Amino acid sequence: MRKILLVRFGEVFLKGQNRPFFMKKLTDHIQEAVRSVGGHVWLGEGRIYVSDFTDIDECIRRVTRVFGVHSVSPAVEMEKDDFNAICAEAVEMMRPLSGTFKVLARRSDKKYPLNSPEIMRQAGGCILSHLPQLKVDVNNPDHVMMIEIREKAYLSVERIPAVEGMPMGTNGKACLLLSGGIDSPVAGFMIAKRGVELCCVHYHSFPYTSERAREKVLELARQLSEYCGKMRVYVVPFTEIQMQIHQKCPDNYTTLIMRRYMMRIAEILANQDGAQALITGESVGQVASQTMEALGCTDEVVSMPIFRPMIGMDKSEIIERAKKIGTFETSSLPYEDCCTVFTPKHPTTHPKKELIRKAEEVLDSDKLIAAAIEQTEIVEVG
Ligand code: ATP
Ligand code: MG
Repeated sequence: MRKILLVRFGEVFLKGQNRPFFMKKLTDHIQEAVRSVGGHVWLGEGRIYVSDFTDIDECIRRVTRVFGVHSVSPAVEMEKDDFNAICAEAVEMMRPLSGTFKVLARRSDKKYPLNSPEIMRQAGGCILSHLPQLKVDVNNPDHVMMIEIREKAYLSVERIPAVEGMPMGTNGKACLLLSGGIDSPVAGFMIAKRGVELCCVHYHSFPYTSERAREKVLELARQLSEYCGKMRVYVVPFTEIQMQIHQKCPDNYTTLIMRRYMMRIAEILANQDGAQALITGESVGQVASQTMEALGCTDEVVSMPIFRPMIGMDKSEIIERAKKIGTFETSSLPYEDCCTVFTPKHPTTHPKKELIRKAEEVLDSDKLIAAAIEQTEIVEVG
């Protein structure tokens, strides 16, 4: 008899010919996630199992963050021949609980001497006779004792919901523009949840932004990597570009021109990294650079799709999600972002594309971009 974890996955993506590919990805990611707690992962019928972990709570925390995992149950694995022993263990597992319960049984071993209704009846009767604090409720019980007879017998009561989504790497790769703010980590999370692998680009304006601001962004990337696995972060020096824009372009257009450079550089790095789309944390109307016209101006400089999963969300909804994912606290640290360093007094909210193109002509775009990419630092996180 030993403690293991039963891992359930969503059924939707398991249809059709892709199934082996999805399952391989999912088991690999779970194995990767539990490596540091010594966990061993294997695929059974309709379930993934984890055993041999050193710290069950940490193991559960990690597995519930793997995209594609639906729920996790701590379970006892035991030999199936001695049904009395199974009933005795079921009683032990239910002993600390009170309220109502039912027993559910599943039997993939059709040669097993008891069928599912018999297992439920006998185990339920045994629990009732030993534990007077419990009552049966088959419709809406507080607890479900699950007994599964497969290669061995598996008993579980607790079911911990996991992150769901699709296994990482089953839907290509995208490049997240990661600031130190609240929105962009959540945006990255939402796209990654659909099975999209991430790489990140961060622009910093040293010495106008501090080393601590950079560390904060790397910490956010590390927090994201708890869900997405290892990620590459491109840390791009942006000071020279910002200074040039600040000196040579009309004040009310500087923010937007800066954002166009962010997109251009991100697209180049994304291409180098094999990513097929960009991701930002923008939301309609949140700031001057996120009006409809402004978004149109940033879109026109790249040909890759730009995913903006927060586009229709209120700040309060984004904050709620950031708290749930676990990035909110770090995002709220008060370090400056490069966007706030050279903020113009009156950024335009109704920019004209022709005017922006004209305003940019004074800049030696190719040279500025090449220099920024040349000095980009690559940091691996996760
Ligand atoms: P966030 O909370 O994500 O910083 P925001 O509401 O502060 O967003 P902006 O500062 O206008 O809005 O940034 C919009 C988007 O541009 C961000 O969500 C992010 O994707 C990208 N971005 C902004 N600053 C940076 C940066 N320094 N490095 C990389 N991407 C950035
Ligand atoms: Mg920001």
